Amino acid sequence: MIVLAKRLFIPGPVDVSEDVAAKMAEPMVGHRSREYAELHGSCVKGLKKILMTDNNVFIGPMSASGWMEAAVRNCVSKKALHVVNGAFSSRWYKISKANGKPAEAVEVKWGSAGKPEDVGDKLGSGEYDALFVTHNETSTGAMTPLEGFGKICADNDVIFCVDAVSSASGVKIETDKLGIDVLVTGTQKCFAVAPGLAMTAVSERALKRSEAVDNRGLYFDYQDFLKKAEKDNTPSTPPIPQIRALDYQCQKIIKEGLEARFKRHADMAEHVQSWVRDNWELFCEDWCLSTTVTCARNTRGYDLAELGKRLGERGYQFSNGYGKLKGEAFRIAHMGDRQMPELKEYLEDIEDIVGI
Ligand SMILES: *Cc1c(COP(=O)(O)O)cnc(C)c1O
Repeated sequence: MIVLAKRLFIPGPVDVSEDVAAKMAEPMVGHRSREYAELHGSCVKGLKKILMTDNNVFIGPMSASGWMEAAVRNCVSKKALHVVNGAFSSRWYKISKANGKPAEAVEVKWGSAGKPEDVGDKLGSGEYDALFVTHNETSTGAMTPLEGFGKICADNDVIFCVDAVSSASGVKIETDKLGIDVLVTGTQKCFAVAPGLAMTAVSERALKRSEAVDNRGLYFDYQDFLKKAEKDNTPSTPPIPQIRALDYQCQKIIKEGLEARFKRHADMAEHVQSWVRDNWELFCEDWCLSTTVTCARNTRGYDLAELGKRLGERGYQFSNGYGKLKGEAFRIAHMGDRQMPELKEYLEDIEDIVGI
């Protein structure tokens, strides 16, 4: 058996704590059983608390991209408006187009973030029925402040959809207070659970909208998920091992304390940002720096493939720049169950290899 013991400093998947991983090894149950319904109900209850919402939370067998596609299929009839400021927001825009939806992008510089005033006039035109914003652009380390978007959307009968895949549970996102109609997230980033399961919080407004949208498909139909959610269940067979681990992890997160967890993430972010300022250059503008992942410009011109290899020999998985930023920038994830001492050790190893 090959045991890969590398510590993951990539922005997902992240390391899964042993006790969380152990939950996945428990004996299987049928998904139409009472045991499953109890597990499902408990998991959703924990998620609502962490995501700060009273809305329906659906969990399903898919990576987070699935719920991104679901948002498009269920919320767009007229036209989608996408704020695009990096690779993942660009992907959501592509998903809209790939599903045959009329879509438009508001392009923002990579390393920056969109603001409510960038979309206000457009949304006021009545042309659009959904807005898509990526809360944490994992490709650039830019975190979009979400305040203000919800009101513009509500005032214009636009469904507000947010990708919080790499931020939810690591950063405070008051889903209901912010007026987020659809929040999408996954297990393998801040939640620090194995990949293969994703979660979405969907408002009554979005559910009502979806009823009137044609060609929602079957696998991603909110109405189907809603019907099954009422019985603490899912339309198709769910990844029960991951749900067990997620349910357990939600309890752990609540026990750690939401505020304490957010602070741990903020402290780690501050530490990495200051280290990058001292030794490299931050890729992202100061006002929208991410709390869960930092992107550093390779101002030393160091061979990043070589750095990745050398870190690999020391038992780490390094994250090069995403897509077109490969070689030009690198990323450090500080999310999930990661603790400050491990993070400091990692930075010291980089210093040692690079000769800082
Ligand atoms: C990781 C990530 C995704 C994609 O998630 P999958 O689970 O791989 O489908 C989408 N958006 C953001 C911001 C991400 O970080």
